[in-house]
Amino acid sequence: MTIPRPRTVEIPRLLHVSAGGLRQVTPLLADHDFDLGCVLLGSGPGPSRAFAEGVANGLRAHGVRVLHHSHLAGRLDQAAATAATIIEDGVTTALAVGGGRVIDTVKLAAARSGVDFVSVPTAVSNDGISSPIASLVGRDGTRASHAARMPCGIVVDISAIGSAPPRTIRAGVGDLVSNLTACLDWRLADREGHEQYDAFAAMIAESAARPILDLEELDSSSSHAVIAEGLLLSGLAMAAAGTSRPCSGAEHLISHALDAQLGPRAALHGEQVALGCLIANAAHEWSQAAVLLRTFRRLGLPTSPEDLGMSRSQLVDAVLAAPQLRPDRWTVLSRGFRHPDDVEQLVMRAFDDGSPSPRRLPSATSASAL
Ligand SMILES: [Zn+2]
Repeated sequence: MTIPRPRTVEIPRLLHVSAGGLRQVTPLLADHDFDLGCVLLGSGPGPSRAFAEGVANGLRAHGVRVLHHSHLAGRLDQAAATAATIIEDGVTTALAVGGGRVIDTVKLAAARSGVDFVSVPTAVSNDGISSPIASLVGRDGTRASHAARMPCGIVVDISAIGSAPPRTIRAGVGDLVSNLTACLDWRLADREGHEQYDAFAAMIAESAARPILDLEELDSSSSHAVIAEGLLLSGLAMAAAGTSRPCSGAEHLISHALDAQLGPRAALHGEQVALGCLIANAAHEWSQAAVLLRTFRRLGLPTSPEDLGMSRSQLVDAVLAAPQLRPDRWTVLSRGFRHPDDVEQLVMRAFDDGSPSPRRLPSATSASAL
């Protein structure tokens, strides 16, 4: 009898989520068999740099040689330069301490140069903290996804997450909740014969996102842990599926269209995805759409384009452009909603649950999309 071989999924050999986890990075790496011969540490130029310097000092105190790249901003040329350093200097382990841009830069450099990569997020604004995919900006200024590898280790310091701007936490919630619409799109694509659905990967992605619907606030460390763990599981869902499909559907295409349209005025990736999620829900006529809208209002997520400093017509244009951005990704927008009048109606339905909005978010001020 031949027993079919099970598929294999790479999962990190180190996973640590705690308050104060940043202080434990050195012993955690040593206890989990990371080669500390020479460590490359990547960080951004902003507030996460102080966290990274703390980690570097902890490693150096144990005699570890550390090379610190401190101005990573999510560019493809920076990933190439980091990979060159890894090869030239004999780096044995690469560490990223920072937000999504830093993590994706080092993640791709480590994957292409073949060394272990450890993700140490200081903000949870998207699901890149544990995914095998790196989203980076190329020479022409456009953002694209690149195949990388799952991190070999992930250390999440819940205290650091809580000290990041609240906006990053709302963005993380948006990116996590989008698993629900992405899986609706995936099932639709399968039913209509465009793509094969993977029930196990979808189950992981949906189970990761559902606890968000029960959250009452985004201020406590217990809420931050729920979000971080959900995003970690999202990465696992993508690794199991071998594609970003369980965590990326029409709502992500809408966000990509907004990035292209708004350029430096775009909001955070997860914030835009949150808006796209409400639109995709309305397009699917999902039974839980009103629940999601109420959850967004309760947690302070964007529930109208004005909340992110954009007009309704800009959002309508993005919804119309979204399906062309990636024609191979079949979503609910691929089979309809091609006429501006239909999309205007859709956008109106998406933000209406029959109750008045209790408050408005301040307009987006940052020019960056994670
Ligand atoms: Zn995303």
